[in-house]
Amino acid sequence: MDASEAARVVLAGDAAHATAPVWAQGAALTLEDALVLADLLAGRSDWSEVGAAYETRRRPRVAHVQAMTDRMSRSGALPGWARRLLLPVIGPRSYRATYAPLREPVIA
Ligand SMILES: Cc1cc2nc3c(=O)[nH]c(=O)nc-3n(C[C@H](O)[C@H](O)[C@H](O)COP(=O)(O)OP(=O)(O)OC[C@H]3O[C@@H](n4cnc5c(N)ncnc54)[C@H](O)[C@@H]3O)c2cc1C
Repeated sequence: MDASEAARVVLAGDAAHATAPVWAQGAALTLEDALVLADLLAGRSDWSEVGAAYETRRRPRVAHVQAMTDRMSRSGALPGWARRLLLPVIGPRSYRATYAPLREPVIA
């Protein structure tokens, strides 16, 4: 693959942003990637800027899911007594903090 061909490649799904499955968002993010990419490609005839626009639109949402996933994954490493004490309190809060921003639609 030469440089001009490489410039036309985009990564989507786990190849771009694999996460642990604790918040059940990997397939959802993958589908969102496809929707956003299709939206960007359909909206213009010059595709030279699509890669950068795709990354700009996807990065904040993906970063949010990765951060919340890492946070939840770390709780799995706590001792059992600490998980039993903390998770009934922080679990629902973490759930809301994870999913509330994801209610924003990815395409208009
Ligand atoms: C245990 C577990 C539970 C999960 N639960 C959820 C959930 O509840 N909800 C959710 O949204 N997500 C969940 N996920 C995450 C979700 O499965 C992934 O994020 C999603 O499948 C990623 O899709 P993808 O198309 O990017 O990759 P994949 O689904 O991995 O697809 C990649 C495909 O490429 C093929 N392939 C690989 N190499 C080559 C090659 N050289 N040539 C040709 N083909 C190749 C593979 O065989 C595969 O079919 C879970 C993941 C795991 C591991």
